[in-house]
Amino acid sequence: MPRKKFDIATAIANLSAYAEQNLDANHLDIIYAHNQLLSLFKLSQPSEPDNPLPDFQNGILEPIVKYAIKNKLCKPEEALLFETKIMGYVMPSPGTVVSAFDAIAANESVKKATDYLNTLSVKSNYIRMPDIQKNIKWTAPGPKGDLTVTINLSKPEKDNKQLEKERLLPQTNYPKCKLCIQNIGYAGALNYPPRQTLRAIPIYLADEQWYFQFSPYVYFDNHCIALSAEHRPMSITPATFTRLLDFVDLFPHYFIGSNADLPIVGGSILTHDHFQGGSKILPMLHRPAKKLFHSQAFPNVGIAILDWYNSVICLTSQNRAELEKVAAYILHNWRNYSDEGNGIFAKTKEQHNTVTPIASYNETSGYTLHLILRNNRTDETHPHGIFHPTEDMHNIKKEGIGIIEAMGTFILPGRLYKEIESVVEILTGKTPLNFAELSDESHPLYKHVAMIAQLANDHGTNLDDEAAETAVVNHINSTCFKILQCTAVFKDTETGNNAFENYLKKMNFQQQ
Ligand SMILES: [Zn+2]
Repeated sequence: MPRKKFDIATAIANLSAYAEQNLDANHLDIIYAHNQLLSLFKLSQPSEPDNPLPDFQNGILEPIVKYAIKNKLCKPEEALLFETKIMGYVMPSPGTVVSAFDAIAANESVKKATDYLNTLSVKSNYIRMPDIQKNIKWTAPGPKGDLTVTINLSKPEKDNKQLEKERLLPQTNYPKCKLCIQNIGYAGALNYPPRQTLRAIPIYLADEQWYFQFSPYVYFDNHCIALSAEHRPMSITPATFTRLLDFVDLFPHYFIGSNADLPIVGGSILTHDHFQGGSKILPMLHRPAKKLFHSQAFPNVGIAILDWYNSVICLTSQNRAELEKVAAYILHNWRNYSDEGNGIFAKTKEQHNTVTPIASYNETSGYTLHLILRNNRTDETHPHGIFHPTEDMHNIKKEGIGIIEAMGTFILPGRLYKEIESVVEILTGKTPLNFAELSDESHPLYKHVAMIAQLANDHGTNLDDEAAETAVVNHINSTCFKILQCTAVFKDTETGNNAFENYLKKMNFQQQ
């Protein structure tokens, strides 16, 4: 059968029909949007949609964008900006989405309401599922719980030409950052993601205006963000615990946590107070206690050292007010706690001790707060951080170890995928092992030279494909475990464990 000739008017009708059927868009709003699209594509009258509708991604959206590029409505490098712009036309308005969310939460359940927003985010391509599905994910088995490892291939690699174009673009200070609520509807630019399809729900946390939205990058199921209405720096204070627990009161089916408020141990955005959360699937959340404590001052709170790779105090209680008090007490103590023998200095010229707090709720045990103890001090031998992966692990991960990794979910850079393939070629003998070439700084595998030497020494260079791949993956897995151990302020040694217990005892917590 000959392929039907592409007709832009039909394609636009298909997009409008898709939105009405899948995005819960109002019929009048769709008539309105359809007219805007006709104007954008300089068409005088509409066509009927196909029946049945073609596939959204390949049959509707991509052909429209291709047509737009061919007819100079957008430049090839602006495809994503243009695609998001036309999706913005057919999306229900931000206010309509809030009303729909609130109605579902009131009449059905808050879980149904978050499911609605998540589905809308996927079906509108705000969450680009076909890209996310490119990510490579596996489990790294470990003695204190398995880790999840993801190679992030969902962000397309940019070539040098594109990077140069981006570099030459004027820098603006609007929106102030990628988390500001002013991003809703923002057209973006080559160096800034378009956000016409972003929708957020206003919420109150500790009597303050915040917003709830999904992350477009989906590092785990239902990966969501809560952000302050005010563009202000991340800051962990007792009020943070109140806000986190208010969040789990609103969304008891999700966990929520805040990155630490200092560089190296915080996340990539320290300039805007925000939390990250989602389904309670991150490995740390499922770990048992290693040592139990109790406190006369806080008799209704279970206090424990968690059996995990870094240093976590786990607090559990049905009594929210008391839980907040003990968390504030520990935060105050930790900010000022030094243990020179174990290299912990609370502050030198500046503050080093802080926490990564995570809240969750469970009907049986009540509220839980996990406090991951962090320290960002550097010295001459550890310029990247004393409690940070050492340089020999930077070929796998160099960036700060934020909340998601600290909880056992590793997101590794997309470049690793091709690099692993090249290392496999060496271990199978398809590419001769040549240290002189690898030691040249311009070689793409230069950063992996120590890892390659180790793997070649342990396994030789005559492996079959599967064995070679397993060897590299095992090396990455063990590096991820080492990275977490590096972030532990109290090491998992007799000295470290004693020091951790002593710290709790100094706060008048008695071991059970
Ligand atoms: Zn901001």
